[in-house]
Amino acid sequence: MLNLRTATTDVSMIKTQFPAGVHQAIIPNTGHDTFRAGVTVAVTEALVCSRYFLWRFVILCSTLTSLSDSYTWPLLVYMLLICVYPFTSSCAHTFSAMSAESYHICYFFDYGALSLYSLGCAMSYGSYMMPDSWVNSWLHQHFVPIAVGNSVFCTSLSCYSRFLELQCPQRSKALRTAAFVVPFIFDTVPLFYRILLFFGGGSTDHLSNHCYHLLFAVLSCFLFTSHLPERLAPGRFDYFGHSHQLFHICTVAGTHFQMEAVLADMTSRRAWLTAQGATPSFLGTFGALVVSLTLNLGIIGIFSAPLLRKPRNQPHVTTATACESKEQ
Ligand SMILES: [Zn+2]
Repeated sequence: MLNLRTATTDVSMIKTQFPAGVHQAIIPNTGHDTFRAGVTVAVTEALVCSRYFLWRFVILCSTLTSLSDSYTWPLLVYMLLICVYPFTSSCAHTFSAMSAESYHICYFFDYGALSLYSLGCAMSYGSYMMPDSWVNSWLHQHFVPIAVGNSVFCTSLSCYSRFLELQCPQRSKALRTAAFVVPFIFDTVPLFYRILLFFGGGSTDHLSNHCYHLLFAVLSCFLFTSHLPERLAPGRFDYFGHSHQLFHICTVAGTHFQMEAVLADMTSRRAWLTAQGATPSFLGTFGALVVSLTLNLGIIGIFSAPLLRKPRNQPHVTTATACESKEQ
């Protein structure tokens, strides 16, 4: 595990004064000024998006008649988490260049916020978006507890993937992608079923916004893994149009359509869902959020501890692994 910090400090800090992977994550093949400009764009994007969702959240809260209405609790948790994840991302990009340790720890929190966002998606989908025939089924009743497990899996695997970044970059990327794809697929299973029902002649209610969300989610994944367009023209997209900036835009655009779809489902299905007795509980909403938040902070603490414990002046030894020699 300690290889992460030692390799980072030796290889990259000396060369570029920025931790290894910072350029890969945001602006590869570029100078410091360009790098800073690229970071500024990424931070601004995330902050603007966070403020947009916060504005929608405040408007929503002002229209609610009572916070004791348990039907709205999954929406409140979801709205809170879609404000938190772009904000955490902007903080991660802002503070990650302070040191090798802060670089990795900042992104641990970024991953934690994204995994909590996946929990918020599961809560809102489980409460408002379940196909009629799945309401009160085993999957419906266990949807949120499984999503809590998924958030633990997501944060653990994505944080662990950083420790492989230098020695096994391809494996690191594959693990990090899998960490986010698994909760996404699980959360989206009810939506996939509704799309299947649509092709079988079922209801088309609000499916367009759900489909736009899926489209942007697939695009986000493609940009995250492909590093296009900068891979085709290195240096041309250092300020604007870098894949990580496009990734941010696609993620937030997808979240916007998802939010609209969730709001529409919530409003239109209220009477029917309430009549089925499918009312969200405190434990299944705020309780699950607190449990997941605690577990995620614990995981981040476990992965951060080796970075914080190691003395700064300890001599570093970087050893090439079998994986490194294979992938280089
Ligand atoms: Zn980012």
